[in-house]
Amino acid sequence: MPGVIASLTLRAQRMRCAEGPVLVAVIGPPGAGKSTVVSHLTKPGGVPVFRLREMIRSHPQLLADFAPSPDPLGWVGLQAVWRVLHAAFVDGLFDVGRGPVVLDNFPGTAGQLELLAEIADAVGAQVALLELRASATTLVLRVAQRRVCLACSPDSHAPAVASETDSKRCASCGATLSRRFSDVPRLHGLRLARYSANLPEITELAAERGIPHQRVDADLAMPDVLAAAKRAFSLLSACASTDSTDPFGADRDRRRLADADAAP
Ligand SMILES: [Zn+2]
Repeated sequence: MPGVIASLTLRAQRMRCAEGPVLVAVIGPPGAGKSTVVSHLTKPGGVPVFRLREMIRSHPQLLADFAPSPDPLGWVGLQAVWRVLHAAFVDGLFDVGRGPVVLDNFPGTAGQLELLAEIADAVGAQVALLELRASATTLVLRVAQRRVCLACSPDSHAPAVASETDSKRCASCGATLSRRFSDVPRLHGLRLARYSANLPEITELAAERGIPHQRVDADLAMPDVLAAAKRAFSLLSACASTDSTDPFGADRDRRRLADADAAP
């Protein structure tokens, strides 16, 4: 059916479908609800989450020859980012699995997006942007209200659930909840200013490179934000085919081993 094939081709061109996984970058101002959205998107099917900071923390040897970052928010330079992305996605240090991957709060600048797009091209993956938008009022409220549990997850940004009987305590372990370190007003202000300064260039570069970009209104009530994020995520990751050839060596090798095991 030539008509169907033609429209499929057109759709593929419009979405620039890649053979490999879709790397869905979740970005948004601090306080918009990225952590909540990311855990909602990744929980059901075990979608892998890439966090630059986590990669660096768990593989310190990657940046052993770089001087410590002088940046007040601890951001590393582009060369360091390149090295981490290369190790993660080209050398296979990060287990991408076979479906979409969520990138939590990355890229933070157009330069980082450029590097990510180059890495994705190199391995036949596709980058997509899922942007949370929120008003200043929403951000201030969410940041003032959110708490983490240092007992359950010492190093986590993941929002804790408060106990129903005592809102100051963790529902799972009973420890006293605390504010995120980076939520103190001075640091939050810095992060917000940096995000706002970088967003226009990120948006512009995404448009230039034909990177699919979906915006979610994060001023809505959280259940509605989560539902909208889920829809946007489905649209963005629609190109990921579980049957396509996986460009990542590690996964290919695993499958080969599995095939060998299955052979009589
Ligand atoms: Zn806890």
